[in-house]
Amino acid sequence: METTESKRQQVIEEFRKRGLRITKQRIAIAEAIFSEDGHHSIDELYRKVQEKVPHLGYATIYRTVRLLVDCGFVTEQRFETGATRFDTDPRDHDHLICLQCGRIIEFTSPEIRRLQESVAEAHRFRIMKRKHELYVNCQEMLKNGECPHRDL
Ligand SMILES: [Zn+2]
Ligand SMILES: [Zn+2]
Repeated sequence: METTESKRQQVIEEFRKRGLRITKQRIAIAEAIFSEDGHHSIDELYRKVQEKVPHLGYATIYRTVRLLVDCGFVTEQRFETGATRFDTDPRDHDHLICLQCGRIIEFTSPEIRRLQESVAEAHRFRIMKRKHELYVNCQEMLKNGECPHRDL
């Protein structure tokens, strides 16, 4: 896993290359995203960045995150539970989402990939984009009838 510091440098370099302004706010937002792997909502980032840079506007966070998407540092995920999330994992992967708490687990399965390829091939199509989401009751929900996890 790359460090926050190396990601921060990559972001600065990419912004510079694209002629985007490099501000203290934008850097703080990038740091907030990359300090923790996962699927961040704008609300979470807002709370996290506010600790470091007070008076930061919601719109600034939103715009900066969009820039990070455009630059390919994060991907946008619209799960059916809750708000849009921004995913820091650059690898090709799928998601399990707990319907009770919105907890998101990542997985990869070469076998599923192969099946997807063969289905597309059978129709002579080429897969350009994938989205595979399973909406589940997590283990705790099944065992105790309640899910202790909050949507992180
Ligand atoms: Zn993910
Ligand atoms: Zn759960």
